[in-house]
Amino acid sequence: MTELRLDPLRRRWIVTGKRPSIPEDLDSGALCAFCPGNERFTPKAICERHSMDGAWMSRVFPDRAPLFRVEEDLGRTGEGLFDRMNAVGAHEIVVETPRHGVTFAGLTDEEAASAIGLWRDRILDLKQDRRLRYVSVFKHQRGPQTGHEGHGHSQILATPIIPLLLEMEFRWSLFQFERKERCLCCDMIEQEVRASKRVVDETGDFIALCPYASRAPYELLILPRNHASAFERDVDEAGRVRALAEFLKMNLRRIEDISPALQLIVHTEPNLAAPVPTQGWWKSVHEDFHWHIEITPHLDGGPPPLGAEGFYFNPISAEEAATVLRALNPSPGGGASEA
Ligand SMILES: [Zn+2]
Ligand SMILES: [Zn+2]
Ligand SMILES: [Zn+2]
Repeated sequence: MTELRLDPLRRRWIVTGKRPSIPEDLDSGALCAFCPGNERFTPKAICERHSMDGAWMSRVFPDRAPLFRVEEDLGRTGEGLFDRMNAVGAHEIVVETPRHGVTFAGLTDEEAASAIGLWRDRILDLKQDRRLRYVSVFKHQRGPQTGHEGHGHSQILATPIIPLLLEMEFRWSLFQFERKERCLCCDMIEQEVRASKRVVDETGDFIALCPYASRAPYELLILPRNHASAFERDVDEAGRVRALAEFLKMNLRRIEDISPALQLIVHTEPNLAAPVPTQGWWKSVHEDFHWHIEITPHLDGGPPPLGAEGFYFNPISAEEAATVLRALNPSPGGGASEA
């Protein structure tokens, strides 16, 4: 059984302990449990979205070997100077397409919109649990693989803690807002559009840019053009979901030209329904935080040089990366353009 332990030197929560094994009746062996026809190998779906012919297009269910479980009590306890609690929360899998071996960029617009709709709906639902302070949506896309690893899926983790990276973003967004009464990302978008050196793509709704201090080559940041702190409230209707699906696919095609193995993470506001440790903790989060999606291609599979210390060496500057990504033709089946 897993538990959460606090590293007091870094104020970072760690999930530790033995991960449960996949129950025998759900063990699909070499078969892909995420393929149509193999649904008996997954827990009962929490939600499914269907195409016109009635077959499922995307579905979400609890992980077969979850790191977090919703049934437990928090059980916060101290052990001398240390703190621990039970791994309360949810760990879910979103299967994004019935088709095996398709990357996110290769989804149809309907499939991509359906997957994004499921991300949104699960965040909204899980945030009703006041014990949970944050809901993470992420995707580790690998190169071609057999078994369920090769079937397009993303993961959802709802946790009683705020992940360290998010906490840093929340704190520095607040820091900037308290001084300038403006959103840091809104200012950044305005400046980057004016400079246009690091902008890869833009529409009236969204912008994709290589962050000024990219920690890895071809890192890409996708933000809504207009200020919004919560992904799950901002993509609230079909047209908006569709616009994000198309924009995301377009830019993932550029990244996949560099590497099909990549990581995608949605950063959204914390669960404002959860009790907060300090009075006024999230008082300006609607105004100071700007949701976004972070995409990082995995160029060689290994950790970034010097990354072990949380200090990065990136040999390709953001300006150089943006120039390369802009020149790639993101139309389906397109490669590098002549332009
Ligand atoms: Zn499959
Ligand atoms: Zn903003
Ligand atoms: Zn972020």
